[in-house]
Amino acid sequence: MKTNIINLFLSLFSVVILSSCSGSGGFNMFSDSEDVKLGHDVSAEMLTNQAEFPVFRGDPSIRTYIDQRIFQQILTSPKIAKRSVYDYKIELIADDNTLNAFALPGGNVYIYTGLLKYLDSEAALAGVLGHEIAHAEKRHATQRMTKYYGAQFLLGMLLGSQPNQIAEVASNLFVGLAFLANSRSDEDDADNYSFEYLKDTRFYPGAVKFFFEEMRDDGTVSSKSNKVATFLSTHPDPVNRIAKTNQRLQGAGIVIKDWKSNDANLFKNEYAANIKNKLSK
Ligand SMILES: [Zn+2]
Repeated sequence: MKTNIINLFLSLFSVVILSSCSGSGGFNMFSDSEDVKLGHDVSAEMLTNQAEFPVFRGDPSIRTYIDQRIFQQILTSPKIAKRSVYDYKIELIADDNTLNAFALPGGNVYIYTGLLKYLDSEAALAGVLGHEIAHAEKRHATQRMTKYYGAQFLLGMLLGSQPNQIAEVASNLFVGLAFLANSRSDEDDADNYSFEYLKDTRFYPGAVKFFFEEMRDDGTVSSKSNKVATFLSTHPDPVNRIAKTNQRLQGAGIVIKDWKSNDANLFKNEYAANIKNKLSK
């Protein structure tokens, strides 16, 4: 018993040390393969809940196009280290009233048809997908879970009392999707990586801000609709994120464009022809 208490203390102590010294990387109690397993568990759970996460059953060429033309393109960036470790995959959720996208740990990325209908360029979509890939790649969700559940995990490990902790945590967190609520610093981190990944593609690298600019310009961002409430609950601070992205562009010596630009590296016509118009049918 005494040994257990000492071990517990040492373990808790090391968690404090690791989490306070680790900076933005952060200490993570999950292994990469546990991130993948957790993501698969949650995605299996989502399939059983078609009321909340209806799988898109329209024209299958839309998903294929987004996957091949945009998602896989971003994944070719050499800055994505877990390409062959994580199960990077894109799925569409058939919900026209939700302006959102999210990534599960381990690389499953979900995008709502509401967001696809709202955006107007491949670059804007690439910006969002780069951002979501960064959440998975940088393991923001399991880092947050580590902070929250850390002590409980250690206790369980020491006492050997909770063999199915990951499954338990997955089901707890799934209720209300609490783990999707990203912190401001995670959002900033993900925007920065989206910018970095897109630099390695044919898309305009600042495009992660296009979604926010469009929302700002049409007043969506200040409205009280459910659409935006859902979005803001998982992606805080859109206006500040525009300014941050402009700073990054300036710092890298890249011309500042906004979502209204018609330049070729936004791929607006392609987006309309292959995604937006097909969704409206
Ligand atoms: Zn985010």
